[in-house]
Amino acid sequence: MAKQKSYHPDTLAVRGGLHRSEFDETSEALYLTSGYVYGSAQEAADAFSGACARFVYSRYGNPTLSMLGQRLALLEGAEACRMTASGMAAVFAVFASLLKSGDRVVASRALFGACHAILTQILPKWGIESELVDGCDLGAWEAALSKPAALVFVESPANPLLDLVDLAAVGKLAKRSGALLVVDNVFATPLGQKPLELGADLVIYSATKHLDGHGRVLGGAILGASALVDEVIYPFMCRTGPSLSPFNAWVLLKSLESLPYRVARMADSAQKIAEHLERQCPELNIRYPFLASHPQYQLAKRQMRIGGSVLAFEIAGGQDAAFGFLDNLDLIDISNNLGDAKSLICHPYTTTHSGLDDAEKHELGISEGHIRLSVGLEHPDDLLADLLAAYSQH
Ligand SMILES: *Cc1c(COP(=O)(O)O)cnc(C)c1O
Repeated sequence: MAKQKSYHPDTLAVRGGLHRSEFDETSEALYLTSGYVYGSAQEAADAFSGACARFVYSRYGNPTLSMLGQRLALLEGAEACRMTASGMAAVFAVFASLLKSGDRVVASRALFGACHAILTQILPKWGIESELVDGCDLGAWEAALSKPAALVFVESPANPLLDLVDLAAVGKLAKRSGALLVVDNVFATPLGQKPLELGADLVIYSATKHLDGHGRVLGGAILGASALVDEVIYPFMCRTGPSLSPFNAWVLLKSLESLPYRVARMADSAQKIAEHLERQCPELNIRYPFLASHPQYQLAKRQMRIGGSVLAFEIAGGQDAAFGFLDNLDLIDISNNLGDAKSLICHPYTTTHSGLDDAEKHELGISEGHIRLSVGLEHPDDLLADLLAAYSQH
């Protein structure tokens, strides 16, 4: 581990956490097993008393999951990592293990739909209050965090309009209010933004997105200091069972090998497409963190290393025009997923954000004409040609 920390991300993505079995296999082994056997009754007793550290049951741990967790921790620069069955399982395990009745959570309003539902519908049932603020407005954060809070939850860039939160500034305010800062880093990926270096206490991923990146498996991850991840969140996970399947862990291990290349290529293509569309069709109001026209461009350049793979734009003429545009696409698929090798496009108003009422959508600036594009690994010229052809016909 000590030596591995000095390697570049490309090397860590391929080699990090690799632990070969007695058979010296080249590729990471898939330990598709729910349980483990003991050489003696005493060995079993020692395993359960903690006298010897070993695998006892795959709800607690599995060698394939350990390799994946170590690899991802090295890529993130985190002390500890625990994998979960989905991104939402990661979000929920963090909330449920760290919060208690009477606590207060402050979160940015622009959130993934299911995260929004946990904060506004599930946690209040257990006496946990949540306050949602405009994540772009430091004054709003300052006001909300002038009172004590237990946890601050943010997504940056946020779905679907790529609004940013100043992680370093909010981290300082969170600390002052006694809160832990938890960052959902899905859109930025471990290559694009390092929340732990900016003052976050925990980073969460939906591994379903770029970490798999081939549209195959669900997964999630929680990263941070061992004192939090291993000592507080992991015991909760062992008992409540949001465990990732070893098969999915193995798929994700192989995916991570190409993550730095995929993410760099997707971001490069997204940047090209955003710049070209902005030049040729300025009326589309392109949103992309690394476009100088993004309202938080300076912040994006400060806290992100790449602009990410997702961009948003707005078609004049509302829902009918947006649907017409989507239906005209030939190459790009209509889908609500993102971070995939295949470019995917969606109409947030009627899909990913349909759970919000109209007032909430308008508060977030999401209109009937908005489109979210997740740029994949196809050639950017082919993607651009598809977008321009569909736009000219709509
Ligand atoms: C997809 C997503 C999630 C939820 O992850 P699942 O793997 O679908 O459970 C949470 N946050 C963000 C930003 C996401 O894009």
